[in-house]
This record gives sequence, structure tokens and C-alpha cells, in this order.
Amino acid sequence: MSEAERLRHSCAHVLATAILKLWPDAQLAYGPAVEDGYYYDLDLKHRITPDDFPAIEAEMKKITKENLVFEKVTVTREQALRDAETGRLGALTERPEPSRFKLENVRSIPEGEAITYYKSGDFLDLCAGPHVMRTGNIGAFKLTSVASAYYKGDEKNPQLQRIYGVAFKNRTQLDEWLKMQEEAKRRDHRKLGAEMGLFAMDAEYVGPGLPLWLPNGTAIIEELETLAKQTEFQAGYVRVKTPHIAREKMYVTSGHLPYYAESMFPPMNLDECAEERTKFKAQAERAKALAYELAAAVARKEGVIEDNVGAWVEDFLTQGSALGQLSPAVKEAVDEARSAEKALRELPMADRYYLKAMNCPHHHRIFSAQPRSYRDMPLRLAEYGCCYRYEQSGELFGLMRVRSLNMNDSHIYCSPEQFAQEFNAVNEMYLKYFKIFGIEKYVMRFSTHAKEGLGKKYVDQSDLWLKTEEMVRRVLKESGINYEEVPNEAAFYGPKIDVQVWSVIGREFTLATNQVDFAVPGRFGLVYRDKDNSDKTPLCIHRAPLGTHERFVGFLIEHYAGNFPLWLAPEQVRVLPITQDQIAYCEEIVKELRGQYVRASMEFSNDKLQGRIKRAEEAKAHTMLIVGGRDQAANAVSVRVHGKGDLGSKPRAEVIAGILAAIKERQA
Ligand SMILES: [Zn+2]
Ligand SMILES: [Zn+2]
Repeated sequence: MSEAERLRHSCAHVLATAILKLWPDAQLAYGPAVEDGYYYDLDLKHRITPDDFPAIEAEMKKITKENLVFEKVTVTREQALRDAETGRLGALTERPEPSRFKLENVRSIPEGEAITYYKSGDFLDLCAGPHVMRTGNIGAFKLTSVASAYYKGDEKNPQLQRIYGVAFKNRTQLDEWLKMQEEAKRRDHRKLGAEMGLFAMDAEYVGPGLPLWLPNGTAIIEELETLAKQTEFQAGYVRVKTPHIAREKMYVTSGHLPYYAESMFPPMNLDECAEERTKFKAQAERAKALAYELAAAVARKEGVIEDNVGAWVEDFLTQGSALGQLSPAVKEAVDEARSAEKALRELPMADRYYLKAMNCPHHHRIFSAQPRSYRDMPLRLAEYGCCYRYEQSGELFGLMRVRSLNMNDSHIYCSPEQFAQEFNAVNEMYLKYFKIFGIEKYVMRFSTHAKEGLGKKYVDQSDLWLKTEEMVRRVLKESGINYEEVPNEAAFYGPKIDVQVWSVIGREFTLATNQVDFAVPGRFGLVYRDKDNSDKTPLCIHRAPLGTHERFVGFLIEHYAGNFPLWLAPEQVRVLPITQDQIAYCEEIVKELRGQYVRASMEFSNDKLQGRIKRAEEAKAHTMLIVGGRDQAANAVSVRVHGKGDLGSKPRAEVIAGILAAIKERQA
């Protein structure tokens, strides 16, 4: 447990103590540390709301002021059971009711394992620790929210109240955190996205989690795609284009079905021969009925009693047709039924199609669409592919958790000898992007396998795991990239790297994943002809440095607070004539800029100039070119840049050249 986690968890004890001071009958469940803070789950008749927070925090303050020691006590199982039954555990005194959740918790501790309490003042809790020394070590705290949560996260269990809080060493750290929260709220991508007309959600007609990109948002994603296309082109990638759906067979082969099925949209059932199927079925039934009727007539003529007609007809028809003894009319009916059944069997089966949740399987099929030799390797297939994932509606969140995603995807097929160089080149691409977007803090989390999981959680190929992980580790070390290794977190088919970045206000985002895949190319039977004329299975690197448009734009909105650099700004230039006399001159400037693909427009109305400047500022137009009579006479423009203010009058040609250069170089 890190020092910060110890502090946060200790504060959960303080929170619990405060709750019990106010509501002694509260039943406490669990109170762990979480990212940034802690929570405590509890059952209480009184419904806690943020209005209760000041009173709870006042009690917490008293407890930290008292500077109580967190005292560790080891007890016997009997003692623990007794204390839970008398309501003493997770409480300040014995109580009329047993401590329900603590009792269950004690019972779940395996026989023979040590049972420990932590005591601070009167509060006694079942806990393994560790904690800070004293309650006074918690320098600053704040309750942040209350929610409901199922006991142990299982919806079959009763619903509890979960109170969240944060805790820090001192007041300064808490103030910094509060400031960051404020700033994050101001930069909220959902709020800015709506204000700037970047995207819209239309749950009623389009569906939840399926963003519509509005013109301003589309301008941004097209700039990102251009960046990716140019960067990848220079790095030797080739582009491909694939459909959004594929047959069931594809995902059975890839292993997505059945393991990943719940994250996919339900299948579309498609029967391309539905009409013929119905026709042949009816035809077969009709002919069979006729054959039966004709044969039954024969049976009755022969004097077969009614109860035995069915069995007699069956024998008659099978034997009769085997011996070729049927009358022409019966034979015709039997033949017709047979040929209809045969036609039915020969119809292609109905099939299921799935929306793709990943682009890899399609790319694998592109790999095998042509014979490949060592000369084609490495083969780097790239596509901004649109995938669909079924996220629970409760999990959906703005652009961060969506159901349709446009992914900066690529699959690099290479030989083991080429791997290190390819992997390194991918990392360099990341660093190049970080520089462009001013991302200064990042970490690559390198997830590796664990031996125990082989054959269960991980494909059972010990040698390949060790070899590939070693290759990745070496590249990470040699390139001096900031990384941390996390054992037993790899993907099923190979080690992976999650790239975490921090926005300028210090919030963390997981943007992209790199994966090494040494299993799936084999499942798809991908091979290339090697120099020695033998067929070899390639390794595959999955990479998506810019993640998905959805998440990356969501990140960028917060990162830039909507004030995008010129090259990314949805509205790059707004030209404002001061009076009607400059309209023609301004139109010419707009035409010249648009001729160079700059997103420029002119705005003129009878409003005062100040009002129009204010509107452009609010719309976050990057550069304003303001033109008065004197500017026009000198073939000049007055430049005003969003966030920088007035830069004065400059020659028109110089200003336009400057704008074009800033866009081309993707200046920050
Ligand atoms: Zn504890
Ligand atoms: Zn992939």
C-alpha cells in the first residue's frame, strides 16, 4: 500500500467513527482507499445527503484533532465472532444488533489466518491495515459525494450507501486538488463540446453512446486523421478500408465469440434465401401429404384396420420405393417431396453478422487475401476503423465511454527479427505525437503474463511469452521511455502496453493500447513464405497511438480548454470588416485563405465591432482579422488572436503567410 493509500484508508476509519457518533446504529461494510480518496459502504435508515456532510466533517475534524493512535490488536476467531455478534465491531460500543457485515466478513476469513482489529479511540474495526500512525497525520480531508452501491458489488445483495471522500497530508494539497476539480469542471468536454458545437448525443433517434460529429467537431477529427495519415505514410504504412460488419465465422476464429460476446452488439440474423426456404418446405410437405393420402387409399382397399394405417403407409412407401414398386402417381409425389427436401438442404444456411468490435480480424483477412513473402514484411496496414462496442448504458460517459469508436488503428505484421525495430518505431510515433500536443507527462504501463495463468488467462506458450516480453522490455529500456511493468495483466494473446497521459491540469487519461499478438495470426492461419521457402506465422503488433477520435478529442477539449491551436481550431480565422466599405476587401481575404484550405469566414452585421469581437472570442475563433479603412488602404489587416489579444496592424501577405506556416507546422 502506498503512503497516500494508507492515508486515505485511515481517513475511511475516521469517516466511519464520525458516522457512528451521529448514527450509532449504522452497519458498516467496507472502507477501502480508491483513486484520489476512499469510501465507506454502510447500511443506515437515514438517507445521507450532501447536506449532512458539514456535520460529518465537523465530527471528523474533532477526531483528527484528538490525534488518536491507530492501534493494532490481534484476536482469536472466537473473540472476533463474539465482538461481531454483540455489535461491537465497526462500532464505538456494544450494540443491540450484531454487526452484520463484519460478522460475515469474520466468517469468510479462512481458519488459521490471523484476525486483526484496528482501534482508534472507541472505534474498533476489523481490518488488516496498514494505517498511518495517528489520526492527526491526516492533514486535510473532504467528503465529496454519496451514491448507492450493492454489498460486495453484487446486485443480488442489499443496496448500501457509499460515502466518498478525499484525504491529503496537508491543506495545500487539498486546495490544489479542489482547484483542479474546479478547472476540470470548467473544461468539461461535454459542456465545451456543446458550447462549441463539436458533437451531439441523440439518444432518442440515434441511440445512447453514439455521438454525432457536428461540423466543428468533424473539422478537428479530419485534422487528426490527416496528421495520422501523413505520419503513417512517412513511416511506411499502407492504408486499407474495411466494412463495419462480418460473419459469425470471423469472430469465432478470432476468439471474440463467445468470450467477448457481451461487449458486442447482438447479431443480425440474415437469411438470403428465406423465400426459397419457405417455398421448398411447403412443396415438400404438400407432396408428402399427397403420397400419404394415395398410399392410405391403397391400405384401406387392402382392408388394413384404421389404427394400423399410419404404420402400414410408412412401410409401403419405404419398401415400395426401394423395390421400385410404387404406382406412377405415388412415385411422382414421393419424388417431388424428395427433390424439394434436397433443394432445401442445398440452400446456403442462414447466417449471423456482427458489427465489428475490433478491426484486427478484417486486417488479418486482408493479410491473407494475397500470398505474402518475406519481401512484403513488415506489412503495416492502417485504417481509421469504426468499431462498435456494447457498453452498459450506466457506463456511458460523454465521449469517454461510447458505443461507436473511430480508432487510429494499425496492425503491423512482422518477423521476430523485425519486431524490436517495429516496436521502437511505434514508440517513437507516440513521442512525436506527445510533442505536437504538448503532452509532457505520460507513462507506458507494460502488462506481462504470470506463469500460473498459462492455459487459462493466457495462451499456453511459455517460450513465446518470455521471448516477446523480453523483446518489449529491451526496447522500452533502450529507448529511455517512462514505463512501469505490471505482472499478470497482459491480454490473452500477448503482452500489452497501456499509454496513460496527463492533461495540462493534471488529470489522467488512458488513451491508447499497444499489443503484441503471437496467437491470433496462427488462429487465422496467416503465413508468409520465408527466405528458406518455408511458411512462417508472423507476429502482429496492434497499435493506436491516437486512440479513438472520441476519447482523444474528449481529452484534447480538456487539455486545451477548448482553445485549440490554429491547426486544430474548428474556426481558424474570422474576418471582421469595421464598416460596409471593407466588405469586398474582406471577402477577397477569405477567398484567398479558403483557397489554401484555411477554415476562414467573414462576419458583418450592424452590431458594434466590440460586440462582434466578443462573439468571436466566445466562439473560440482562433484568429481575428479586423479591417478598417486604413488597413484596407495599406493592404493590411489588424490581427487579434484568441487568448493573446491585439497584435496590431500588419501587411496582409505577411499575416497570411504566417497563418499558413503555423498550420503546416502544427504549431502549438
Ligand atoms: Zn483499516
Ligand atoms: Zn487490433
